[in-house]
Amino acid sequence: MKKQACIVGIILVVAAAAAVIYFGDFDGGGLIDTFDNEGRYDSTVLDNMGVIYTNQSDIVMWNDGYSESDSCPWGFIHNGLDYFFFNNSDVIAAAPGLVEDIELGYVANGTVYKVAVHIRFNSTITIEYGFEGFSTDVAIRAQQAAMIDVEIGDWVAKGDQIGRFNRPTEYDHVHFSVYLNDAICPRLVMGEDDYNEIMSLIQSFQPTWELCYP
Ligand SMILES: [Zn+2]
Repeated sequence: MKKQACIVGIILVVAAAAAVIYFGDFDGGGLIDTFDNEGRYDSTVLDNMGVIYTNQSDIVMWNDGYSESDSCPWGFIHNGLDYFFFNNSDVIAAAPGLVEDIELGYVANGTVYKVAVHIRFNSTITIEYGFEGFSTDVAIRAQQAAMIDVEIGDWVAKGDQIGRFNRPTEYDHVHFSVYLNDAICPRLVMGEDDYNEIMSLIQSFQPTWELCYP
């Protein structure tokens, strides 16, 4: 009996040590965030995310917010917010973070270009700023890419300029998504003032609409 207890004890010690090595340190039962921003901001929780425009007058219209089904005013699933900026408007960071990737590509069968800036807030949350334009012309996409002010590896603070918006057609917009594994309703990580701000923008165009629909 005593020998068995001893073996169980050894197994527990080994398991605990392995867990510490694998997961890092323990913090009151939760895991410490392994993302290291070297003290730039509190990355434990995102609860004060803002909007990505400096003035409501930079926005042309509001067509679609976040929806998890087609039961929404725009009638299709949409995993982000579309900000329709006027040409050359400033686009600013909604939250602090590390610029992890700037992706040049095409969506919608190659008819829409995308310059997507991915900014990591912490080890679980990333934010995508997708500058989308209805053009197959690589030169127009390059024009948008040249209007991006950040580079991979840069740290941004909330409100810092990410770039300016290129608007070759009236359908062009910044597709904005917050990812916590999958895309989530941005309201879940917004500050109260910032939520009120975006609702005042939305309802200036669409008086009865919400930001997100299930
Ligand atoms: Zn979109």
